[in-house]
Amino acid sequence: MTSRDDFPIQKTDAEWKAILAQKGAEPGAYQVTRQASTERPFTGKYERVWADGSYHCICCGAKLFDAGTKFDAGCGWPSFSLAVPGAIREIQDASHGMVRTETVCAQCGAHLGHVFPDGPAPTGLRYCMNSASLDFHPAPGKPE
Ligand SMILES: [Zn+2]
Repeated sequence: MTSRDDFPIQKTDAEWKAILAQKGAEPGAYQVTRQASTERPFTGKYERVWADGSYHCICCGAKLFDAGTKFDAGCGWPSFSLAVPGAIREIQDASHGMVRTETVCAQCGAHLGHVFPDGPAPTGLRYCMNSASLDFHPAPGKPE
């Protein structure tokens, strides 16, 4: 079962709330990352972002995805075909009457979303993420 007690970064709920507020995270970010809530589709701020850069954990800042692996899955959530190696831990999730693979930040245990085996080649994976779990860092030095 899901254990959130063995991640390298451990903080109290109050500490996470303070960190998310300080970062200007989305209002639902605490519920999504710490209580495995899911934001409503087509509402996340990164769903339609295609800029070059990288996506990091909103809680601890660990890099999770390169923008080049983001693709339009049409599902209403930011979707990626490849995660940064070692950045994400997978947990079997049997809630809601389905067996799915939950994805959490390997550093702090933040709930990110789920991964499904119906993504594009070559990985065949679709990391279906909550915008509220992510922090986008634009690629540096790009002239307007
Ligand atoms: Zn994290």
